[in-house]
Amino acid sequence: MPAATVGVLALQGDVREHVAALRALGADAVEVRSPAQLEQVEALVLPGGESTTVALLLESSGLRQPLEARLRLGLPAFGTCAGMILLARTVVDGHAGLGAIDLAVRRNAFGPQAQSFEADLDVAGVEGGPVHAVFIRAPVVEEAGSGVEILAEVDGRPVVARQGPVLVCAFHPELVGDLRLHELFLQEV
Ligand code: GLN
Repeated sequence: MPAATVGVLALQGDVREHVAALRALGADAVEVRSPAQLEQVEALVLPGGESTTVALLLESSGLRQPLEARLRLGLPAFGTCAGMILLARTVVDGHAGLGAIDLAVRRNAFGPQAQSFEADLDVAGVEGGPVHAVFIRAPVVEEAGSGVEILAEVDGRPVVARQGPVLVCAFHPELVGDLRLHELFLQEV
């Protein structure tokens, strides 16, 4: 089977790290900055970064509408941190989410940069021991719809969640060289 073409939304944020993780797993990873590039991909990663900036760039690049349309048609998507915010149904304190996963999130709610933290998490569906999770000004899930599967929690708050082909996490698996969450995502592709 040829390798799946997996896009990484490359408007802002830690794009290179995601491209490297996907390539290490054998995917044909490509950067997506335009509607034409979006058409070429079978799945999309939305990296961590600054969701407000990415939301503005989604509008100015003309990507927002075609991306919403692809997501409605079931495009597999994986959002980390800012990417999770962008994929949410509701962003309590920010730009409208893309509505791909039935979550209401609040930005920067695990504290300012100085209070960023790390944790070892058991993630449902991920074998081989806990995942080391780095949280950087991470979003908190305030509400999850009944169709959302919660795969891991911190302090009773979901930090890894899935709904159909959409996977999100509040931390940065791309920063620690642990490929298991990307692998879990690629199982959907
Ligand atoms: N605080 C950022 C935001 O609101 C997300 C942080 C991150 O991706 N590390 O977009």
